[in-house]
Amino acid sequence: MSKEVFFGNDIAALEQQQLRRRMRDVEGPQGRAIVLNGREVLNFCSNNYLGLADDPRLIRAAAECMEKEGFGSGASRLVCGNMASHRRLEEKIAAFKGAPAALVFSSGYMANVGIISSLMGRDDVVFSDRLNHASIIDGILLSQAKLKRYPHSDMDALEGMLREPSSAKRKLIVTDSVFSMDGDIAPLDRIAALAERYGCMMMVDEAHAFGVLGKNGKGAVEHFGLEGRVDIQMGTFSKAAGSFGAYGCGSETLIEYLVNHARSFIYTTGMPPAVAAASQAAIEIMEHEPDRRETLWDNARYLGGRLKELGFDIGRTRTPIIPIIVRDSGLAVEFSRRLLEAGIFVSAIRPPTVPANTARLRVTVMATHTREDLDRLTEQLKNTGRALCLI
Ligand SMILES: *Cc1c(COP(=O)(O)O)cnc(C)c1O
Repeated sequence: MSKEVFFGNDIAALEQQQLRRRMRDVEGPQGRAIVLNGREVLNFCSNNYLGLADDPRLIRAAAECMEKEGFGSGASRLVCGNMASHRRLEEKIAAFKGAPAALVFSSGYMANVGIISSLMGRDDVVFSDRLNHASIIDGILLSQAKLKRYPHSDMDALEGMLREPSSAKRKLIVTDSVFSMDGDIAPLDRIAALAERYGCMMMVDEAHAFGVLGKNGKGAVEHFGLEGRVDIQMGTFSKAAGSFGAYGCGSETLIEYLVNHARSFIYTTGMPPAVAAASQAAIEIMEHEPDRRETLWDNARYLGGRLKELGFDIGRTRTPIIPIIVRDSGLAVEFSRRLLEAGIFVSAIRPPTVPANTARLRVTVMATHTREDLDRLTEQLKNTGRALCLI
């Protein structure tokens, strides 16, 4: 079979299962509304929770940094690419999180892959929530540690696995703190207690919690009051912070270990310093404008309440990520298509991103959505949901 036939057959099979994915073109900046394929639509699928992606202060911070530090960083940070803005961002994020030290990675994906694969090895075992993000799974696979997946947030099952006799040298429990496709929150307090009881390290991925959860927006570790009890906190600047890149934070020795072993840190060029400067500006905004977070939560509660009233299955969400579970992939795609026709963009999420037969629309709420936006969405979801016999 020629390679072209091989690729073509694969795409045709995806198409037939309603699983073919395509990119859509956005012009102009990310906001509560975006220009998609040339037409303005309300945006309900971005992780830009606080509306910072087009904030003039991030843009200014990046522009000023470029004037001083140029654009590219020229080499790995371990060679000559460790720029002033990288260092400042690391000091800022460590101080904000109340952690002894932090290390910046070029993306959340690279942070998870690099941290997990450097900490764990073939004699070790990793306990991982079944719904953890793909980058966590890839990090575990790369580490060659034994992977034990526990049913989603099921603490009895996790404890059962921890009790099993094991010859593993070291053990790690890793979880998303907010699950990206369901919007529910991992029981970090119970996981921390199990980690302590069974002598495991604990790592949380705060991608969707950073800037969103906790009194000061530090994430789910703050929400549960677990400061000092989680060995590795990882989070991203690409979601609520409206920027790009990621951090890992923990003890000074942990960070030094990562600098020396995390291959996705060592064997890659430092991120452009202007990106780091924009992330730092975003943290400063998070610190000084808690009202953004409050509006985000008001919006999330309002919309969640309306959708529940209408009779949609919104799963167990407790955050601004609100899934509308329709199960069938074709139906999810059709639902999304009809909403888009009505000027509302909500993407359909299908397997393998979510488990089989749990296709859904994934609605994400932003602080910058107005009540009117939320009401327009609700009205369209009601009309289309009824037309498709979902409610
Ligand atoms: C988005 C996401 C990542 C990846 O972060 P990027 O900065 O987009 O690479 C990692 N973990 C979780 C839980 C995420 O949702």
